[in-house]
Amino acid sequence: MIHYIVIWPAIAMICMTLMMMIAIRLFSNAAVDYEIKREIRKSTDNNRHNLSVVNGKLEIADGFSYQSDNVSFVVLKRNGEILAGEYPENIRSDMENLPIRNNLSSALVCDGATYYVRDARIGRMAGKGLFLRGFLKKSYADSVYHKLEMGSYLMISGMLCVVLFGTLILAKRISKELKNMCQTAEHIGSNLDMSQRMRCEDHMFREIAVLASANNRMLDRLEQTFRLQEQFTSDVAHELRTPVAVVLAQCQYAREKVRDASDYQEVLDAIYRQSKKMNTLITQLLKFLRLDQDRVQMQEEVLDLMEIVQSVCEEQQEKGNDTIAIHLHLHEAVTTGDISLIIIVIQNLVENAIKFSYPDGQVDVETGENSGQAYVRVTDYGIGIEPEKLENIFRRFYKCDQSRNAEGFGLGLPLSLKIAKKHGGGIDVRSAVGKGSEFTLWLPKT
Ligand code: ADP
Repeated sequence: MIHYIVIWPAIAMICMTLMMMIAIRLFSNAAVDYEIKREIRKSTDNNRHNLSVVNGKLEIADGFSYQSDNVSFVVLKRNGEILAGEYPENIRSDMENLPIRNNLSSALVCDGATYYVRDARIGRMAGKGLFLRGFLKKSYADSVYHKLEMGSYLMISGMLCVVLFGTLILAKRISKELKNMCQTAEHIGSNLDMSQRMRCEDHMFREIAVLASANNRMLDRLEQTFRLQEQFTSDVAHELRTPVAVVLAQCQYAREKVRDASDYQEVLDAIYRQSKKMNTLITQLLKFLRLDQDRVQMQEEVLDLMEIVQSVCEEQQEKGNDTIAIHLHLHEAVTTGDISLIIIVIQNLVENAIKFSYPDGQVDVETGENSGQAYVRVTDYGIGIEPEKLENIFRRFYKCDQSRNAEGFGLGLPLSLKIAKKHGGGIDVRSAVGKGSEFTLWLPKT
């Protein structure tokens, strides 16, 4: 199996090795050139002291050597005439043609090989300069450097192999761990088994453990969302089942045999009521979804909460809730938002207060401003809510008491809270069983 994870590091390492080899090659050439020139200069200067011109004659001391440290020597006049020593046959003519350059080292290609040559002045003889010429074949000198260079290449290549091998082993381990994670992800994807989690312990690499736990956290959230989704679907189905069953039963009743007009009227009334209920549910759900998906175009206008509350409460009284008295305590409260959405919230709070009041009860509705916020407070003196149920009333489809609220779907408060939050506000609740409840809608003051 190809470990793609190592391809780029391997290419980078090979490139770096090649670059290092090229650098070594260039530097070693320069170093060899420098070292050979130094060697030939040293040998020529040392040997030159064994030569002198006395009374017009060349004197050669015992210490003089025609060959020293791979450097060969000849003594010659300015015109190239050799007085002592000799050139090897194969390079003689080239060397003889090489003009004398005192105290200068130069390179010369003779017979296909490179030679270094250095001339050092000994003195004057018969009015002309006398010189010692040292010459050295490059291949004799640079074999040591060549070995060093080859050694460096071998060392670098060896290091490259070790590093590549190590990287490959690491890549194998990483690939194995990633493969395990992929298998778990594939398994979750194909079976939708949200209970599975990735292994977070015993990882060789901390980064993989961190990745696995981040994935697990994401899976936790997904599992929770899935559960909510399932719960939501089953709640909707449950809420629709009763009205649909009633509609079906009524239709069946009407179709069994020919009925009289009043029977048909009753059937139609029942179907109308249940259809209206389903319509309310669907409308509320759609509003919810639109708000959830940010598909609602919220109008931003200045809202006078006193006016809105007054209008909503009048409408409620007109609906025939004569047994419950609504008392208004209106103080200035101005906010900014979408009037149609804010009406939904106030309507819902007032309807609930009426619905859960005792017969002939009273509902107080107050508006005002406090701590930089505008508020609408709806207080009833009805059945109240048990403390342990209070935290659930903003959950979708939650009803504290199914029998007391057969008409409702448990969507009013969650929808209201969502709208309040969309406006940058919230809803507070205080309640005591048998004494009543107080719901306060808070909105940013304008
Ligand atoms: P619905 O739309 O069915 O009325 P809500 O979401 O508005 O549902 O309310 C959820 C539940 O909270 C209600 O079924 C009821 O049990 C409880 N509740 C809401 N308001 C009041 C209130 N003023 N007094 C007592 N219980 C209330």
